[in-house]
This record gives sequence, structure tokens and C-alpha cells, in this order.
Amino acid sequence: MTRVLSVAPECVPLIKTGGLADVAGALPAALAECGVAMRTLLPGYPAVLGGLADTRSERRWDDLFGGPARLLQGRAGDGVFYALDAPHLYDRPGGPYQDADGRDWPDNDIRFAALCRAATDIAADGAAGWRPQALHLHDWQAGLVPAYLRGAMPKGAPGTLMTIHNIAFAGATPADRLGVLDLPEAGFTSEGFEFYGRISTLKAGLVWADRISTVSPTYAAELMRPETGGGFDGVLRARAEDVSGILNGIDLEAWAPPFRSPRGKRRHKAALRAEFGLPQAPGPLCVVVSRLTHQKGIDLLVDALPALLGQGGQLIVLGSGEPALEAALRGAADLYRNVAVRIGYDEALSRRLIAGGDAILVPSRFEPCGLTQLYGLRHATLPLVALTGGLADTVIAANDAALKIGVATGFTFAPGDRTALEQALSGMCATYRQPDLWARMQKNAMRHPVDWGASAGRYAALFAAIAHR
Ligand code: ADP
Repeated sequence: MTRVLSVAPECVPLIKTGGLADVAGALPAALAECGVAMRTLLPGYPAVLGGLADTRSERRWDDLFGGPARLLQGRAGDGVFYALDAPHLYDRPGGPYQDADGRDWPDNDIRFAALCRAATDIAADGAAGWRPQALHLHDWQAGLVPAYLRGAMPKGAPGTLMTIHNIAFAGATPADRLGVLDLPEAGFTSEGFEFYGRISTLKAGLVWADRISTVSPTYAAELMRPETGGGFDGVLRARAEDVSGILNGIDLEAWAPPFRSPRGKRRHKAALRAEFGLPQAPGPLCVVVSRLTHQKGIDLLVDALPALLGQGGQLIVLGSGEPALEAALRGAADLYRNVAVRIGYDEALSRRLIAGGDAILVPSRFEPCGLTQLYGLRHATLPLVALTGGLADTVIAANDAALKIGVATGFTFAPGDRTALEQALSGMCATYRQPDLWARMQKNAMRHPVDWGASAGRYAALFAAIAHR
């Protein structure tokens, strides 16, 4: 077995704000079948410390970025976790990255530098006799690990794989934080972690990790283009041979539909309509489960709503995020009787929506992989998605070519284009009026492989290639 330490800022079942947590949480079990023994290092947020069982202290730091810290080992579900218990960094109310009012914690740079330092120390000394042969680094929060390893372990360091879940988060912090972050001045160049005059912890990872991956093949290609590379396209083109696009999967058991055939959906759909006070309607019941941000294209959807409602469609949105988008959705729900909105984060409701909806909408401007369209496929809830990133890699549009050979699973449109979204919504409603065709697409969707199998194999091959022997 190859021993791998996953360094993650969030991980199911302990703490989650988005898809990264699902991926970090699902990979250890999927990889166990491919010869990889993965453990996960997380910041010791209250939810993490409270959720771990059988904890024991494995090491201590007298001063880790401004205060004492302990490394705890524990279990949650089938997973083995290390939690960095550093109260001065993580023991506070609010989210993993932001306070209760949605403002980034001002000390985020040292909060995650500490996580990277702990990972480096585990790599160097092991924890209770367990030493990783490779490290899996998730997003900017883990980006400083390769920088610290260069200083701490010039020889014999474990291999590193840096995975990009979303290039929009650069982990940028002012240049005068070099000393505080314990980074070498020599690294502050365009070949190192300098990024438009600031330090980018993501860039440190991209420059110095042994390999780089991102969460879909199309997103990997998009990242190398100036328009969609978030400022990192040049860095990534220079390392193109080391970059892989590996599609996310989902845990088939955790996301098993509560019915065997699409016809079983009816009961769940009726229950949803009752729960949200929506009338019977001739068109499809559409659902959205999403962070409400510009990235997710929620504003486009609000603008395009008449195209859906005019054909008897309905919409239920579950999400939270930017106040202006929350307000726009509440306004739409007040205005239209066929629109309902629940602002908040609610895992149980997300499952009811995905089971009971006819279609799930993902109108993102960009989307590294996207998970909700995969849940939709599994539940015969046909995805209508923007043709970008992982959405493009997972949904087969109901165009003439796909319909001729009977393989369509959903609907697509050009990202960021309101007119194209309106046309896609109309096309979906027209398809819904052809029950045989809709039923065939539902069958295709449920058969579409969305498990981790093939992707776990690709990760395992990467870890085997970089593992320190
Ligand atoms: P991102 O990571 O950009 O937020 P993904 O589609 O990759 O987008 O993953 C989002 C994950 O978070 C999915 O598992 C989705 O079901 C979940 N999610 C998002 N918003 C909510 C919400 N308001 N309530 C429950 N689950 C949510």
C-alpha cells in the first residue's frame, strides 16, 4: 500500500462548504481498493474536534504561528484523520474561511500556513510511526507544503500532488507577509510564489509540487488559456506535461436514489410540491442546489425565468451566498407562484430536491467539475448545464446527433449567455412534453457511470509514480 497524507481544509463527514469536502471525503475509501492508504489532515475547527472519535495526541508545538498546538489522531466513519488543534487559529465561531457575516478571516494566511507546516512536520518525522510517501494537497490552503518541504527536507521528501478545485481562489496575501509566513525571500519571483506583486500560496503549490491535477479534463484545458486560467495559465502551460484532469466521482451509496426506476420519482415530486406550496403544473419541476455566487450564474437564471415559467415549468432553489442574489431569488419567489426559494444550507433538503425534481439546473459561468449534475444523473433528474469545465465532461446534450443514437442525458448551453439559457430551458420543456423521449433520457442518465472507479485508478497511478520509496 502507498501511504498518502491528504492535506485538506474541509472534508466530509466532518466539515463541508463545497465540493472539495465531498472529494476529500470520498477518495480514501475509493483509493483503498487501488492500493493507497490515505489519511487526512484537517484544521482543528470546533466541528472537526467535536466530530472525531478515539482521539489521542500525537505531537505538540510550543509556538505554531503564534500559539501552542497539538496534533490529534482520530476516526470519523471509516476514515483516519489528523486534526491540528490550534485554538488561536481555529477555535472560533463562523465558517472555515469566513466569519458569520461572510468576511474572510484576516489571518487566513497563517491559519493555513500552520496546516502546511504541520503536514511538513508529519512528512519529516511521521506521526505515531506512520510516515506518508506522498502528499495530496487541496487548493490554496495546502499550497505552501511544497515550499516548506523544500526548506525542511531537501532530500527524501514525499512526492506531492497539488489538486486545483477552483482556480478563482489564489490564496493571495500581501508581499510583506513573507516573514510572518516563514517563506524564503528568494521565492518571491515570477518563477516562484509571486503573483501580481503579492504572495499566492496556490502558486507555490503549482510551481513546486511534483504533479498537478484538476477535477475534469475540460477544466484542465480551460486553465491553460488566458481567458479562463485565472492568471495561472502561463504557469500551467509551462508544466503541461505534469498536469492531469481527473473527473470527480460521487459515493454511490451515499447518493443512492430512494427509488429503483424513474417512475418512483412521482411520489417524491408530489411531496416536494406540497412542501413548497407549488401547484400542479404541466412543465418540469426544476431544482437548483448551489452556493449563490456570480460563478454559479444564478443572476442569469433569474433573468431567464420567464422562458421556463411561460411553458409551465417550476423552480425550487436551495442555496446561500451573495446577498444580492439571495434578494433576487426572494423577489422572484414573491413575484411568481411557480418559484420557491429556501435560503440556507440543508443537506437533507438537497437530497429531497434532487430526488423529487425532474431537472437540475447548473448555469455556471465556469465549473471545475460540479457535483450536483452527477447527483442529478444518478436520480434521473436530468441536468441542464452550461457547457463548461466538468459540466461539459459529464452531460450528453440532447442534440440531434445524441438523440439519433439514443444516448442523451441532459441539456447544455453556452456559459454566461442568457439567450442561450432561455433556449435551453425552452428545449427542455419541449422534450418534457414528449414523455417517451424524456423517459429514455432518464434511463440513460441513471446508467451513466458517476462512481469513483476509473478516477480513483488514475489518482492511484499518480501517487504510485511520485511516492517516495
Ligand atoms: P462548489 O464546490 O463550487 O460549491 P460543487 O457542485 O462541486 O460546487 O459542490 C457543491 C456541493 O455542496 C454539493 O455536494 C452540493 O450538493 C452542496 N451544496 C451546495 N449548496 C448547498 C446547500 N445550500 N445545501 C446543501 N448542500 C449544498
